[in-house]
Amino acid sequence: MNTAPNLATIPVIGVETSPEDIYRIGRDLADGPLALACSFSIDDVVLLDLLRAHLADIEVFAIDTGRLPEETYRTAESVAERFDLRIAWYAPRSEALEQLVRDKGLFSFRENVANRRECCRIRKVEPLQRALRGRAGWITGLRRGQGVTRQDCDAVEIDSANGGLLKINPLVFWTRQQVLAHAEERRLPVNPLHRQGYPSIGCAPCTRAIEPDEDERAGRWWWEDPAHKECGLHRR
Ligand code: SF4
Repeated sequence: MNTAPNLATIPVIGVETSPEDIYRIGRDLADGPLALACSFSIDDVVLLDLLRAHLADIEVFAIDTGRLPEETYRTAESVAERFDLRIAWYAPRSEALEQLVRDKGLFSFRENVANRRECCRIRKVEPLQRALRGRAGWITGLRRGQGVTRQDCDAVEIDSANGGLLKINPLVFWTRQQVLAHAEERRLPVNPLHRQGYPSIGCAPCTRAIEPDEDERAGRWWWEDPAHKECGLHRR
């Protein structure tokens, strides 16, 4: 268990604070190494680009749930090449995964929220906990505009769901339009699913395209109540 940093000591952060400055504020507060969680979404690729001057000091990790779309794996390869990154991949524990699919089949997550959370716990949350072990904090591409479960995110916060680690969200104030414009301007590798109506991309069987007027995360676990739409990686 880490000793939680004292957020009362940090400078005031507002919508005008740049993502890089938010990162620097968090980094200066962290008492140890940081890791960046990358799902290869457009938000995370933009985040990598904005922090490209600092990537030598940050471990970039990704979680291969075993159910990701092929487009995401291909994007991951392009991103690694673009930023000359060695991605630290984490995968679910094989014993737990084998037990889950033997006991409940390959689509138990569609049956109820408890089963869905169980699948996310085995495929995402447990690997995340290993990825964060020994870290003082982690950096994410969370934005307030991504949906109802993220509208209260802070730029720098204490992640009590992960042992009091520091959580740094440099894009928290950015809009989707800003992210799209930056990716375009910098010609970043973009997951082709984003252009096919998928603003948010997770595991293939739990993600669908959305209508233009829907919430960004409406296509994730679309059969559930919006208030439940987190996989456990970003519990608050
Ligand atoms: Fe399982 Fe779906 Fe969660 Fe992926 S998003 S871990 S397939 S429930």
